[in-house]
Amino acid sequence: MNLFDVYPLFDIEITKGISCRTYDKQGMEYLDLYGGHAVISIGHSHPYYVQKLAQQAEKIVFYSNSVINKLQTELAQKLGKASGYEDYSLFLISSGAEANENALKLASFHTGRTKVIAFEKSFHGRTSAAVRVTNNPKIVAPINEGFDVEFHQLNDIESVRKSLIKGDVCAVIIEGIQGVGGINIPDKLFLQQLSAACKETGTILILDEVQSGYGRSGKFFAHQHADIRPDLITVAKGMGNGFPVGGLLISPMFEASYGLLGTTFGGSHLACAAAIAVLDVMKAENLVENSRKIGDYLIEELRKIDGIKEVRGLGLMIGIEFDKSVNLLRKSLLFDKKIFTGVSGSNIIRLLPPLCLSKQDAVFFLNKFREVINEQV
Ligand code: PLP
Repeated sequence: MNLFDVYPLFDIEITKGISCRTYDKQGMEYLDLYGGHAVISIGHSHPYYVQKLAQQAEKIVFYSNSVINKLQTELAQKLGKASGYEDYSLFLISSGAEANENALKLASFHTGRTKVIAFEKSFHGRTSAAVRVTNNPKIVAPINEGFDVEFHQLNDIESVRKSLIKGDVCAVIIEGIQGVGGINIPDKLFLQQLSAACKETGTILILDEVQSGYGRSGKFFAHQHADIRPDLITVAKGMGNGFPVGGLLISPMFEASYGLLGTTFGGSHLACAAAIAVLDVMKAENLVENSRKIGDYLIEELRKIDGIKEVRGLGLMIGIEFDKSVNLLRKSLLFDKKIFTGVSGSNIIRLLPPLCLSKQDAVFFLNKFREVINEQV
């Protein structure tokens, strides 16, 4: 059997990872400034994480959600404390798309409505809220099964308000920072007005923090830069440092009932052990603070480099936009300088390194990045 060929691949086989470095099968070392789309939060193969996973795997990997699993409770308590959402409840799933699907479902059950507002250039996984992110018609295709999704411009509060006052919108879904769409940060005032407008109209506000959450922005959640408290928050990616685990944080206004939501794999013993280990390491190593500090430094230094159109970001979620395609630049970073980066669209380099990135690694990257830019002019 062949693999279903949906991913364009670099001709590199990664066989090992340590902290912010990965190694290919020839032993070549790479600096990882992408972490597989913001997944590697505490660094590759962190010894504490590896130990906790191995210990748990020896005991039990999975049973089912029909028996008590104290690891789920421990995870919920630790996540509540780390994020400042101790009064919210946690529903566990295995991916970002699943987290958003369940958020939409819950919003729809709660309001009895099915219309959803999302934003241009948003990405919420291959969900009912679909994608509006690329010019590729194959990906843009809406997948609205049951939900009628209306797209608005980010930061255009008047257009959103006009829609909300009709009273037929079940949820507004918005990323803390748009990732796939190009590192676009919602204005603080816009988020505050959006939150107020949702409350006034009985609309559920869903913050998709799948990519921007878990300390990436220099706060636990990106929306916390705007001091708002959404009704539902979705997380995944950095939550398990590579182990597939996602979560839906649910405000106390939602009432749980048996059978309302459900999943087979979500909240397995091994998934919880991974997610608990991530939170333990984030706390012990002050990784949210490190993300803010190293992110500020990188953004400040990148803004001094000539030839860049714009540097956008918060913490270690950074977009570097050029006037032209970054294809060659990215390839040169990877194959000549041995640095993994990501892209958004054709003109933006996207940095999503592990949150433990050191100042030394940041300086190393900046030097190589300047070299590559100079080599290409
Ligand atoms: N939401 C956001 C903001 C994302 O960036 C992604 C993935 O890139 C998703 C949801 C979907 O997550 P998953 O691929 O785990 O389903």
